Amino acid sequence: MTDKPVLTVQLASPRGFCAGVDRAIQIVEKALERYGAPVFVRHEIVHNKHVVNRLEAMGAVFVKELDECPDDRPVVFSAHGVPQRVPAEAARRDMLYVDATCPLVSKVHVEAQRHHKSGQEILLIGHAGHPEVIGTMGQLPDGVMHLIETVEDAERFEPNDPDNIAFVTQTTLSVDDTADIVAALQKRFPNIAAPHKEDICYATTNRQAAVKAIGEGADLVLVVGAPNSSNSVRLVEVAERAGAKTAHLVQKAEEIDWSWLDGVERLGVSAGASAPEELVEDLLSALARRYTLHIREVRVAEENVVFKLPKEVA
Ligand code: SF4
Repeated sequence: MTDKPVLTVQLASPRGFCAGVDRAIQIVEKALERYGAPVFVRHEIVHNKHVVNRLEAMGAVFVKELDECPDDRPVVFSAHGVPQRVPAEAARRDMLYVDATCPLVSKVHVEAQRHHKSGQEILLIGHAGHPEVIGTMGQLPDGVMHLIETVEDAERFEPNDPDNIAFVTQTTLSVDDTADIVAALQKRFPNIAAPHKEDICYATTNRQAAVKAIGEGADLVLVVGAPNSSNSVRLVEVAERAGAKTAHLVQKAEEIDWSWLDGVERLGVSAGASAPEELVEDLLSALARRYTLHIREVRVAEENVVFKLPKEVA
């Protein structure tokens, strides 16, 4: 007999690693295998301390800028993408570099370049200071792209020619917030050019749909992810908006404040695109030590996206 209280857990699916994160981690692992340690990595390869610590133990050295890397060791650029000046500088120094930019971020870079070539003024919907935004803006000369963070920004923006503007977006935004910003832009500028296909990536879209499904009616939602991971932070917001009484981001099971669970009967669990599944398993094990868990997986989409590795490590 057990006297542990019962807790119903709805597990969001898809959750956790996306194809871009999986590829970026593999690139560092394979670079270490092929070239030996140390391999330098500019910026956290993905926004997850657990992943970074594991790669560090294997011989990866994480740096903020290229000038911290010696010329004679390989350097990997993170999944978020880098401004063009970074690979240009690596080439000038004759360094071996491997670009782990997610192909879906590169797609946005190409779109922005295409708009620029055709003479359009470009708006980037995204969050100031996020490495992906810095990387995307850095595909074009300074001042060419305008950052739009909110509906208010969209309402205030004054283009040179309202009939000759285009927008692109960060890949990890809130689907709903972005739809509001796009609607505000399209209302003011009916001829604004939009991406051929959504810039918000499949992984962000699916994880938000899944957390919506588990958030509705939940007493609490726990999202495993890092505070600097844009898509993880969005999952917490989406869960609360979907009706969860409350939602928290935790990097690992040890960060759970057990008072959050007081009175909770229905718990939702998800993980951001840079959080490994073993952290979700740890969290479920920690819960299972205190509760009798009734776990149900709520699957809203199947994912089978795999990206090819770059030739330097393939
Ligand atoms: S969240 Fe999307 S854009 Fe970012 S790495 Fe994953 S698949 Fe690529």
